[in-house]
Amino acid sequence: RAKERGRNNFQFYTASMNERVSERLSLESMLRQAVSRGEFALHYQPKVDLRSGRVVGVEALLRWQRGDGALVLPSTFISLAEETGLIVPIGEWALQQACRDNKALQEAGLPPLHVAVNISARQFGGGVLAGRVKAALEGAGLGPEWLELELTESLVMQNPEEAVRALHELKDLGVRLAIDDFGTGYSSLSYLQRFPIDHLKIDQSFVRDIGADPNDAIIARAVISLGHSLGMQVVAEGVSSEEQLSFLRRHDCDQMQGFLFSRPLPIAALSGLLERAGLQHGYRA
Ligand code: C2E
Ligand code: MG
Ligand code: MG
Ligand code: MG
Repeated sequence: RAKERGRNNFQFYTASMNERVSERLSLESMLRQAVSRGEFALHYQPKVDLRSGRVVGVEALLRWQRGDGALVLPSTFISLAEETGLIVPIGEWALQQACRDNKALQEAGLPPLHVAVNISARQFGGGVLAGRVKAALEGAGLGPEWLELELTESLVMQNPEEAVRALHELKDLGVRLAIDDFGTGYSSLSYLQRFPIDHLKIDQSFVRDIGADPNDAIIARAVISLGHSLGMQVVAEGVSSEEQLSFLRRHDCDQMQGFLFSRPLPIAALSGLLERAGLQHGYRA
């Protein structure tokens, strides 16, 4: 009986494995189609300066707008896009679109903003990113100072010696650089000091419980003072309550983004928000 049960378990196991494999394959082929049909969109989340209360930039966040109208979030498809390499054409499109959208906002007469684009490991490796970034800027006619690239802490610390070179090459273009999801990986402080980084983004997992969990509050404060002592500005992500906001203000954090101020918005809704905020109180949050 034990043997039988064992066999049944084995069959059950392979059946569920097959199911997972076929789910993966169908998601992969849907994603390939989405690339060829251009089913992606960017939503933009405002970043607010904590001293002036002004919107100083936006982060471009990828959305998959499926044929049936459903809006798919990155958590569903980014890791598969990375594994399959599809993130390279998708990320390239996002980079170009973000530059074009930012140029259009500037031409609409809005005060200039920085646009931040997330860069994946596949795009960062291989030494071609700087050329692609330069081409995207030129294609859109956007000044390099208005583009920021976000690279995660785990990505740059994976091969820090190589990252030092790649980051300097990007920095030489005149763009700004940010380390994303900071605090979740393992940073070598000596490398952190050698990276030409403008912004350190405190991961939202620390921001979430800033008021309730003393450990998270300690980490958030440590990241703020580390960033400042390295000459970087510190951005808190995932800010969703007044309590978190006042903690961050008290501890001298520079910028924040989060649902408290705004969710990521399609470009039309973003420019509406910027116009209203500008008219009412010069972009005050
Ligand atoms: P991320 O770069 O750390 O982006 C921040 C994520 O936090 C976004 O999720 C944003 O919608 C979410 N968020 C912002 N404020 C709040 C808040 O107050 N509460 C909560 N619960 N969440 C908040 P999203 O858009 O789902 O993106 C998830 C991740 O997908 C991003 O994390 C980034 O790693 C990746 N991603 C997004 N767009 C791109 C892209 O164009 N290229 C690449 N390579 N990765 C991307
Ligand atoms: Mg990001
Ligand atoms: Mg992040
Ligand atoms: Mg993240």
